[in-house]
Amino acid sequence: MSIVIHNGTHTTIAGFSQVDMPQLLCSSSYTKRPDGSLDFDTDEILNGPETPIFTIMSTDGTPYDWEALEKQWKWIVETKLGAKLEETPLVVTVAPDITKETKNQYLELALGRLKVPVFQMVLEPLAVSLSLGRNTALVVDIGAAKTTVTPVIEGTILSSAAIRSRFAGDFLDFQVYETLKKRAFPEEEESSSACPSFTAWHNSHTWIQEFKAYMLQASPSKLQEMDSATADILGLNVVKNFLYKKHKTVTLTQKDCCSITEGIFQPSTASSQFSNEEGLSNIVAKAVKKAGASTAQSASAANVTSAEQIHTALLTNIIITGSSSLIAGLEQRVVNDLSYQFPQYKLSSFANPLVLDRKLQSWHGGVTMANLPSWDLGDWVSRKDFQSSADDEQY
Ligand code: ATP
Repeated sequence: MSIVIHNGTHTTIAGFSQVDMPQLLCSSSYTKRPDGSLDFDTDEILNGPETPIFTIMSTDGTPYDWEALEKQWKWIVETKLGAKLEETPLVVTVAPDITKETKNQYLELALGRLKVPVFQMVLEPLAVSLSLGRNTALVVDIGAAKTTVTPVIEGTILSSAAIRSRFAGDFLDFQVYETLKKRAFPEEEESSSACPSFTAWHNSHTWIQEFKAYMLQASPSKLQEMDSATADILGLNVVKNFLYKKHKTVTLTQKDCCSITEGIFQPSTASSQFSNEEGLSNIVAKAVKKAGASTAQSASAANVTSAEQIHTALLTNIIITGSSSLIAGLEQRVVNDLSYQFPQYKLSSFANPLVLDRKLQSWHGGVTMANLPSWDLGDWVSRKDFQSSADDEQY
């Protein structure tokens, strides 16, 4: 029995590997209590006093506050799961481009400071793809601080072709806020915030979250190129109502809702400072092309994998994951855009149709790796191995 923890930039998910559902789903942020202790409980933070919000993970998905991470893991394992760190194998999901230094910091935290008996770091996109039964896939993960596109070829991450962008959930939070600011709330509310980090976090976890789930949608093609007849047929002029903070109804057309999401695909529609090169479908296409080019380059005479074969393998195995991918129409839009860029290829995508399963996909990936039929198959490091390698380094 192991414990699996997924630390996203937005959400932390944790639970035992032999149970289907995780025991804990909470924010990856925390506050400080007056006595100096850290509060990781999302409900307590939501209902507590306005106080600064701190984060543990940097926007690229690596921890930058290791002390807070240590306390969070202790809270998760001991308080929430009722287990003992020194007795329970631990598996955590990590970013695919993790550096050697960050790896060592994870090892030091888990095996050195927290003294877990065995520890494994699993590369998130690889775990997601294997947990869905594919050893070749293009994993498109649209999370909070980042979108990452990672080609996985025969069980190996092709890091030279992986691409990341900042156009994801947090970016949408800002766009939703800016859109609703004009329509829903008076200026004074904005300036009355005593603690901006708390207000932004609170908004993101309450009404912005609801707005994203119920209102946002993606148009099937570039919004500004759509003629009015098509927009009419697609129902984009239909109005939708949103109850802002349970007291004010805000009315938007479906087109308004699509134009918020459009920023993910064409960032320049949100601000001229952003480049469309970093748009979602563009980075997916770029990753496919890079993967084709890099494997064709490295192919030896004995192993002639052509760029076309790689393109075909990836484009028929597109996995769309991350909670921001739950926006209605988003998967279809990615496929539509890609079919323009790769007209000669057949495309096939998979996105978990169940909302909760999609939200838990990365954690389930970690569970799959924790439950491999033999210990040898996983990348486990024991406390003993860690201590003896640390001793070796001293001499
Ligand atoms: P990252 O992948 O950046 O490390 P994470 O794994 O913590 O972050 P996810 O849990 O995949 O991130 O996604 C969180 C984001 O998804 C948040 O911005 C949240 O508002 C957004 N989100 C959650 N549910 C929905 C939904 N139904 N529709 C649209 N967006 C959603």
